[in-house]
Amino acid sequence: MAYADPAKRRAYEAKRYRENPERRAAIKRYLSSAKGLATKKACDARLYQAQKPKRLMAMRAWVKANPERRREIARAYYRRNKSKVQETNKRCRLLRGGADYTVTDLAALIEAQRNRCWYCGEEMESPTKEHVVPVCRGGPDSLTNLVMACRPCNERKGRKLPEEWLF
Ligand SMILES: [Zn+2]
Repeated sequence: MAYADPAKRRAYEAKRYRENPERRAAIKRYLSSAKGLATKKACDARLYQAQKPKRLMAMRAWVKANPERRREIARAYYRRNKSKVQETNKRCRLLRGGADYTVTDLAALIEAQRNRCWYCGEEMESPTKEHVVPVCRGGPDSLTNLVMACRPCNERKGRKLPEEWLF
């Protein structure tokens, strides 16, 4: 029996499905088998991929039309997942090569060095952060590459590597 009209065909299949418990059970068995699950997963993934552009466009349109609501949602999400968001932001900053330290970290460095310049050992009037391997020479802008130095030393060292500068 062939239906030209897809709606009629679906109705027929649905009816047959309802009226045929054995077939229903067989389908259920298939769907919960490993093969059936894999097939379903593949179908879902295909569908998801196929609808992606459409979904993205719809989302962009919604964001554009509801800027206030979007901000509210973002704020609420931030409140609920503060540490997760901060962790993600930190990871992004690191990936971009951004700093992973705070002013507090620098203060701790100064304290650890007893306010003495890392290079000359003199007391620092105006401590500056010093990249041991200069950022322009590939050093990371990261606590692991930072010491505190007095301004004169910092300026004298400039873009040199430590071994090019220290005797
Ligand atoms: Zn110094």
